[in-house]
Amino acid sequence: MKIPVAKLLIEKLFRKNSDVGPPAPLLTTHCTYCSWNSFMQATSSKGMRMPSTMACHRPYDTMCLLALTVASKEIISTLRAGSIPWKNEIVNDANSGLPRSVATRKAFCPLNTMLLQIALHRNNFVSRWWGTQSKWQELGGSVDQSTEPTVVYNCDWTPLPLFCIDQVAGPSVDTLRVHDFSIANADTANRTRIDQLVKSSGADIRVGVGDATHSAGNWYVAPNPWIAFPFHSTGDYILLAPPEFHSNPATHHYTLLHELIHWAEVRTNWISDMPMRELVAEIGSGWIATELGCPPCPCRINENKWLERWLWEMRRDSDYVFRAVTQARRAFNFIMSIIEGDKRC
Ligand SMILES: [Zn+2]
Repeated sequence: MKIPVAKLLIEKLFRKNSDVGPPAPLLTTHCTYCSWNSFMQATSSKGMRMPSTMACHRPYDTMCLLALTVASKEIISTLRAGSIPWKNEIVNDANSGLPRSVATRKAFCPLNTMLLQIALHRNNFVSRWWGTQSKWQELGGSVDQSTEPTVVYNCDWTPLPLFCIDQVAGPSVDTLRVHDFSIANADTANRTRIDQLVKSSGADIRVGVGDATHSAGNWYVAPNPWIAFPFHSTGDYILLAPPEFHSNPATHHYTLLHELIHWAEVRTNWISDMPMRELVAEIGSGWIATELGCPPCPCRINENKWLERWLWEMRRDSDYVFRAVTQARRAFNFIMSIIEGDKRC
């Protein structure tokens, strides 16, 4: 008997993916606003775990809504001002890359990553390292008190003010900075890691050709039927314009990474409408390019095409940005794990 496609699609979308992410904690509380799996290890005074039904959801909802509203406004005003926070603005500086915590040496959660990138753009910071004032002091640094901290959010949505290393002085802190590197210009910057990533991915990339339904250009042709992946009959390949079609090498590489994020959609079991898919592909490709040191991409064609729609969605739904950055991080982790083993997934 044939199983209806809609039923298969629903099962696929809601299927638990045991390969992704850490095992669920013993006690979880789900914010009913954003579905963020914010967990707390609630214990009684005797050290006994409380039943999850006793955990109060309301503070999470209130804090979450407030944080997402503030974060959405930040991102909207940044985009309105003509800045694209997820795109690298720094030319081949070894201190740059996706923001990382100086305390844990790990990347921040997706929403905080976006907020810190906005602060980087706004203040012309270069370095990736961020920490609290007390952490910098513990490391022997002195925070410039004439500058403002950037507010991000803890797992329980409480505000957390952070300072970039560019706001901190002190010889011991300075050792975190990379001084011994040669600065290349945008045209000669090393894109070997991106080429290596693309090659290792095993993605079917067809350069300078079209197919029965697409002219030659930049497209990801999704598997058909999507629900049947990886046993689909057609699709699941990238059509890419030749490098000379793009205005500069960086644009070519950003475009390739954009299509690679689309390629990761079905592999991370995610599907959405076109505006959301484009936002995720732009954020995800910008993050990979930043992490791998791809120089700035001056091309704004795709952002210009979708910007008003994204802003409209963000204004009416504070959760829109959160959903976009969450999927962008999943796709980013999936693709980066190709060259870094299972370090990220
Ligand atoms: Zn796209």
